[in-house]
Amino acid sequence: MKSLLIGEVSNGSLSAGTLEIISKLQENSLEFNLVVIGSEEGPSIGSDSFDVTYIKVNPDALSLSGVADKISEKINSDGIELVLASSTYVGRDISGFLSVDLNSSPVSNVINFEVNDSIITTTNSIDGGESEYYTNVTSKVKILIVRPKSFEPVDVALNNNFTTLTIENNDLTVDVHDIFVEEKSGPQLEDSKIVISAGRGMVDVDNLKYINELASKLNAAIGGTRAIVDAGWMPYSQQVGQTGKTVKPDVYIACGISGATQHQVGMKDSKFIIAINKDEEAPIFQIADLGIVGDTLSIIPKLIENL
Ligand SMILES: Cc1cc2nc3c(=O)[nH]c(=O)nc-3n(C[C@H](O)[C@H](O)[C@H](O)COP(=O)(O)OP(=O)(O)OC[C@H]3O[C@@H](n4cnc5c(N)ncnc54)[C@H](O)[C@@H]3O)c2cc1C
Repeated sequence: MKSLLIGEVSNGSLSAGTLEIISKLQENSLEFNLVVIGSEEGPSIGSDSFDVTYIKVNPDALSLSGVADKISEKINSDGIELVLASSTYVGRDISGFLSVDLNSSPVSNVINFEVNDSIITTTNSIDGGESEYYTNVTSKVKILIVRPKSFEPVDVALNNNFTTLTIENNDLTVDVHDIFVEEKSGPQLEDSKIVISAGRGMVDVDNLKYINELASKLNAAIGGTRAIVDAGWMPYSQQVGQTGKTVKPDVYIACGISGATQHQVGMKDSKFIIAINKDEEAPIFQIADLGIVGDTLSIIPKLIENL
């Protein structure tokens, strides 16, 4: 089955979500090409094992409908039957446009899939990760939106062997008034081996200085619950959970987090979970490998001191 993966660029290379889907495609010996969307100059995203087309977009005037048109043309001309995208803002938006162009419903929240002749059977996650269901996708072009962290990312040798396609902005139908580029520094949530997350049990925004200090000692990324994101303590890009990011680090340290289902969905697959909470009945302890019952504000400074 001829497949097309819609990938993304992150820090001059392929994003973690893209590498995860490549791993699944290679494991199943599926023939595929890659279309990568990004605005970075000279990324290293090419490969000798598969064809890569870089759709370079102007970040000042991003028109995803124009990008989707180019991808639809490629799908039709190359006889593509399976289209995959990671469940990111870009992946979900592009899949929406493609579904209209190709008259095919995208299947979202895919955590696994199998190819049986011309049918794809997907495993989908629902109820905040509590249940799974299966879908037989029989449409001519099948569009799957894959949930991040569903597969282990592959380690591929990347080079500059790719074709670049620049999208002009002629078909732009929105007026861009302002652009906010999120500053990224230090380890990122999606890739870090250690994640330290804060919840309302940090008591006050000023106390996040302890989380920052602990994170810098452990070279960890910082996340948070929706409660503290809503309170304006942390930007939404750091929210972990059902309506935030899914993380799967080696170690997840939950500081003052109750462990609501919606938070657990985004972190319960972490390899080792440490929870600090003053309430020994807090649900987070049900999934923690190591639980510390006590006050975050006395335990975390002690941890920092000992480290
Ligand atoms: C549709 C929907 C989607 C949602 N999506 C998300 C999501 O993506 N991510 C997410 O996180 N939430 C999400 N939520 C919200 C979720 O239900 C919880 O409300 C939220 O996770 C609670 O955050 P919290 O643990 O910081 O706060 P709380 O639930 O208030 O817990 C605070 C914890 O801190 C402990 N504590 C207090 N003081 C201290 C102290 N000094 N020392 C130690 N422990 C202390 C308390 O015992 C308590 O367990 C969603 C909700 C809905 C309805």
